[in-house]
Amino acid sequence: MNPSTKRTPRSLEDVWRRREEILKILLADEPLLIGSVYDTLRRCGNPTCRCAGRPTHRQTLLIFTKAGRRYCRFVRQADAPLLREAAERYRLWRQALREFLTLQNRERELLKVQIRKRAMPLK
Ligand SMILES: [Zn+2]
Repeated sequence: MNPSTKRTPRSLEDVWRRREEILKILLADEPLLIGSVYDTLRRCGNPTCRCAGRPTHRQTLLIFTKAGRRYCRFVRQADAPLLREAAERYRLWRQALREFLTLQNRERELLKVQIRKRAMPLK
């Protein structure tokens, strides 16, 4: 799925093979986190803590949109790896969907070539 290794399929068979692979990603069962997870630094509020000068406490945040509204949640460190993996799967899912659409366009181009080959000569 690395875009640098992606190449334009030359034949309809290539399109269909690649589409099989893409569909495995798009239709997989593992949960997707439709949002982003990232780390930030914050202050704890204790005026004698070293973070009083510069934020030093790592905090993981989950950002997501629901019914058109943006939400931000603190994430417990214990939950962070699972959420990160699910967010990464969602990133790969979106990438796969983009490639799926590219393949559809390529398939259409290749089918049009077939049609031109079959066209009756007209005078
Ligand atoms: Zn602190």
